[in-house]
Amino acid sequence: MIAINRRLCVWILSLSLILTSCAGRKGREEAYSSSFFAMDTYMTFTVYDEDAKKAQSALRQAKEEIGRLEALWSVTDEDSDIYAVNHGGGRPVTVQEETAQIIQFALEMAEKTDGALEPTLYPVLTAWGFTKEENQIPSLEQIDRLLERVGYERVLVAGDQITLEEGMMLDLGAVGKGSAGDRAVQVIEKAGITSALLDIGGNIQAVGGKPDGSDWRLGLRSPFGEGIFGTLQISDRSVVTSGNYERYFIGEDGVRYGHIIDPATGCPVNNGLASVTVIAKEGRLCDALSTSLFVMGLEDAVSYWKEHQEEQIFDVIFVTEDQKVYLTERIKDRFNLQKDCREMKIHVIEAEK
Ligand code: ADP
Ligand code: MG
Repeated sequence: MIAINRRLCVWILSLSLILTSCAGRKGREEAYSSSFFAMDTYMTFTVYDEDAKKAQSALRQAKEEIGRLEALWSVTDEDSDIYAVNHGGGRPVTVQEETAQIIQFALEMAEKTDGALEPTLYPVLTAWGFTKEENQIPSLEQIDRLLERVGYERVLVAGDQITLEEGMMLDLGAVGKGSAGDRAVQVIEKAGITSALLDIGGNIQAVGGKPDGSDWRLGLRSPFGEGIFGTLQISDRSVVTSGNYERYFIGEDGVRYGHIIDPATGCPVNNGLASVTVIAKEGRLCDALSTSLFVMGLEDAVSYWKEHQEEQIFDVIFVTEDQKVYLTERIKDRFNLQKDCREMKIHVIEAEK
């Protein structure tokens, strides 16, 4: 079986997009960047400021914050909070405040999405080999047995104490990077920076607009090839994409299996969606929703948006396997299809009046 990892390409591509998106400055702001590998992905943080010392200190602090959260939230690091919770033997485990908050948030989103987001899916992810990039197809009996150890409703949270039943495991793979991005944004803002772009493995979190005050213009990667299918203009927003085109494997049966799993079946999602991009203020909301809307499929995801968009304030761009683009009405004027993707049909999703 072939394990395919195209993250380096994504990183290089998104980096070049960021660099081209920054032209047209009017002040004396300079761009300062820091690239590093963390949370199993490439990150590039770019801040704009006139003061080199301030910019570099902001970058250093943001990177340190990511490292600190990675050490708390890693599922494999034996010193992490999550590892301690997963090996608590059915007893309450005390975690840091940040960890309790992200777990609480993941559980709330699991409930809101009716279990499409399932933070306790780790045993099933392991059986498919997605945690070690050594993929295999588990038997249906094995999946059924492992699904007995899955269920967000059974996680107990009391303040900073988390209790998991023996054999259950929490994993923040679907929400951790978005939440870490939010905290990096806070650090950067606190350092006095008003214009910055954080690229977290292709997910973007923007602080303010470009140095001249105009919107950032982001390229949205095509799920069908190496290029982009469109651009999106935003300021002060997070833009997070989930898809099955980046981390997947081709089984011995010739079928393509992606890394996002439907908790109802324990099998990789295969519902006609190629990618889901969520745009909102908070990265953690974007991250939780991009994964769970991908699991729901187009029809249920559109219903979810109609039902929750006023309370949660988010927008979505869906791309289907048959190359159609569905986007929510609030962002239709901010999105532009690439010239060479004109054959892709655009449908606007309208809120219920
Ligand atoms: P990425 O981390 O690649 O940016 P996502 O945010 O969509 O993509 O998260 C996918 C990761 O979340 C998977 O690699 C896996 O660790 C985990 N996961 C897969 N399916 C689910 C699910 N239904 N609910 C929660 N986590 C999931
Ligand atoms: Mg996610």
